[in-house]
Parts: sequence; C-alpha cells; structure tokens
Amino acid sequence: MKIRFQYYGVRGSIPVSGKEFSRYGGSTTCFFVETEKTKLVIDAGTGIRLLGMDLLKREFGQGKGKLHILFTHTHWDHIQGFPFFIPCYIPGNEIHIYGETKQVKVLTDAGREEIQTWSIERTLYMQQMFMYFPASTHNMSANLHFHELKSGQVLELEDLKVESLTLYHPNHSLGFRITHGDFSFVFCTDVEHSDAMIEKLSAFAEGANGLAYDSQYLPEEYEQGKVGWGHSTYYHGIQIAKKANIPHFHLIHHDPTHDDEKLNSIQELAKKEFSNSFLVPEGFSFTNEDLGF
Ligand SMILES: [Zn+2]
Ligand SMILES: [Zn+2]
Repeated sequence: MKIRFQYYGVRGSIPVSGKEFSRYGGSTTCFFVETEKTKLVIDAGTGIRLLGMDLLKREFGQGKGKLHILFTHTHWDHIQGFPFFIPCYIPGNEIHIYGETKQVKVLTDAGREEIQTWSIERTLYMQQMFMYFPASTHNMSANLHFHELKSGQVLELEDLKVESLTLYHPNHSLGFRITHGDFSFVFCTDVEHSDAMIEKLSAFAEGANGLAYDSQYLPEEYEQGKVGWGHSTYYHGIQIAKKANIPHFHLIHHDPTHDDEKLNSIQELAKKEFSNSFLVPEGFSFTNEDLGF
C-alpha cells in the first residue's frame, strides 16, 4: 500500500525569493498526498501554483481529475495560491474543499465592527473579490464542493483517513493525521507550543510514522520576542516526536528571514537533538517505503 507525499511549499508567513533562498525555496505552505485512489492537498499557499501545473499534465488537464483540498486555517500564507490553482478553472474536475467555519469581525458601513460567520467558501470568495483579484471563485469552472470541517471530525476520503486537532495559533489552526493502511503521518503547521499543547499533540500523534512540525523559530528567537506569535521551534517539535514515539521528524514553515545558510545551521542543531530530523526543502517528495515502512 503505497502513499506518496510532496512538499510544494515550506516557507512560513510570506513567500521569499533570491539566490540566498535557492536551496530551501520560497513558496508558502502546500503539501500533496497521493495514493492509488486518492489525491489530497493540505493548504493553498503559493506552492499550490506549481502543484496545479504538475496536475495539468495528468487527468486534471482534461477535466477528469478528482482532488480534496483541506485548509489548516486561512492566514494568507495558506490560501494565497488558491486563485492561481489552474485545475479549479477546468470544467469537469471535481474538487472538494474543506475548512472550518469561523466567527470573524467585519467592518460595517458605519465604521463599526460586527461579528459574522464565514465558511471556507465565503473566505475564499472574499479573497477573490473583484477589488483584490480579477477572477472570482464563481469563475472557477471546475465542480467545486465546499465542506465544513469541524475539529475532531474524522474524514474518510476513499482509501485515506484524516483526523484533525485544534492547534494553538491566532484564530487557531488544525493539525491533521493522515492514515493509509497501517501507515500514518502527522502534518502540523502553525502551532505554538505550551505544556498543554505538547501533551495534546503527543497524544494525537502517538505512534505515527512521521511528523511535520512548525519549526519557524530557534528556541532563543522564540524566547526573545516571539512568544504569542503562534509558532514553535524544532526543539519543541522533537519533544513531541520523542514523547509520541515517532521515528521521523520534518521541520517546516521556515521563517522568511532564515536564508539557506541559517537553515543549514538549524538542520545541524536539530540532528544533534534527534538524528532523524530533516529540514524540508521545497519540492521534496517521499513515500512510506522511503521512511522504511
Ligand atoms: Zn503560516
Ligand atoms: Zn497562521
């Protein structure tokens, strides 16, 4: 039972470019998962544009593709690539989109804030309002199906099972545990650690074969002014991997100020703490067999 994963974007917060970022890449979060029967994407950061180009070479180019897109949350770096995901514009493709419904503060004509309820459909529509982007989600001619995702809900998507957990982050985000047969991988971006969060996440991830984790800051950067910003460090992620008996640890959501040289040094530090640590470069692909399962 083979499952393949590919990181199309691993940068956090905002895309970056330049030769000093050429090794690890500048596109923001997009993670692709594929089995014999299922195609799943987590987040539509700017990395999803290139995934779209790859999918167009396959059945999605003829309008015969089926795909599930799950959103961890809707901060810019996780939705910004969605308007550039070409498979959504090709009639015939079937695209299922899942995200939480949230209460948001919106400015009224009178200049006051009021609370509204925004579904994932509404949030993506608003990102593509005409004043922000020329093509609306209503101009996307694939068959788009929007689904409300609730934390704790278990999704059965053909031969994949996806479980979710609420993560501590501004307006919070979701972590996902993806299971195929007896293999499982936990994808956990945009989370700030606390003792309680480490406990919860360790229980959620217990026994998984791999963990991808928000490693945006070095522990000293976190302590010096980043507390409350919603992100974590490789050090705390490794505590979770150890506690939950997870053999492979992937560092993701790289800080936009961390160039290749800095990320190389973080990779070394993480390896000293846990030898199976891997600071993920953009484009990196692996299967369950590559991890030894
Ligand atoms: Zn993010
Ligand atoms: Zn975020």
